Amino acid sequence: MIKDTTKHPCFNKETAGSCGRVHLPVAPKCNIQCNYCNRKYDCVNESRPGVTSGVLKPFQAAEYMDKVLEKEPRITVAGIAGPGDPFANPAETLETMRLLNERHPHLLFCLSSNGMGILPYLDDIAELGVSHVTITISAVDPAIGAKIYSWVKDGNVVYRGEKGAEILLDRQLKAIKGLKERGITVKINSIVIPGINDEHIVEVAKVCSALGADIQNMIPLKPTADTPFAGIPEPGRETVLPLRKEAEGFIEQMTHCKRCRADAVGLLGDDQSVALCGTLRACSK
Ligand code: SF4
Ligand code: SF4
Repeated sequence: MIKDTTKHPCFNKETAGSCGRVHLPVAPKCNIQCNYCNRKYDCVNESRPGVTSGVLKPFQAAEYMDKVLEKEPRITVAGIAGPGDPFANPAETLETMRLLNERHPHLLFCLSSNGMGILPYLDDIAELGVSHVTITISAVDPAIGAKIYSWVKDGNVVYRGEKGAEILLDRQLKAIKGLKERGITVKINSIVIPGINDEHIVEVAKVCSALGADIQNMIPLKPTADTPFAGIPEPGRETVLPLRKEAEGFIEQMTHCKRCRADAVGLLGDDQSVALCGTLRACSK
């Protein structure tokens, strides 16, 4: 089926007012630990990545998708963005995509990953018709990466410090290349962390663009309680806008990100995850 890939509201700002997305929370585990991430909250009142009202099994996600489309027919994209990482939960991720392909082949499919575990699944991703993938890359220097990630897990081995950051970076850069070779649109999410990577983030843009990435989304850090970065202030427009300006010389910049929950649903400007949390919870039982 030929799909209109412009109908992704995150990759095309022009469609954000008419096309919606749903994040299916089927991926609870993660294979790295970012120093800004806390997924312990399960709260309908909080809106940020990693938060969800529940976790679904693939068959439950397919049922939930049916219900969501009845209530919000403007959805054009179904994606997986956690609450952990899709490729720390590859069986659940691929099975969900397979079911969606069967039941809703007209939708665009999207995945958002840290890139650590994605490489063995690049062919599956392409075969399942995933058209958009986001890789979160906030450093292209392991010395800076070591400040952002407290550990990285490869199989059963946990790496810390620069070694961990180096392994992760190697996978991330290979992922961009491999995804582009398969014709997939690639977005780079880069978290802007004052004092840690703000002076380095344009370098991230340069390196990722050289490998073929299509667009970068600089996301200001949202300081979260009980994390090592809880005390770092959220960077304001005066920090982020000049960085975007400089980076847009290398790669297109996304400017309308809403830092969505792992169970986000609806238009970017009209999120209904709280309104639909009862539906999600009912499907998760
Ligand atoms: Fe949290 Fe995502 Fe980082 Fe995993 S990759 S620790 S889910 S922010
Ligand atoms: Fe789109 Fe940003 Fe929300 Fe992801 S977090 S779905 S990129 S608006």
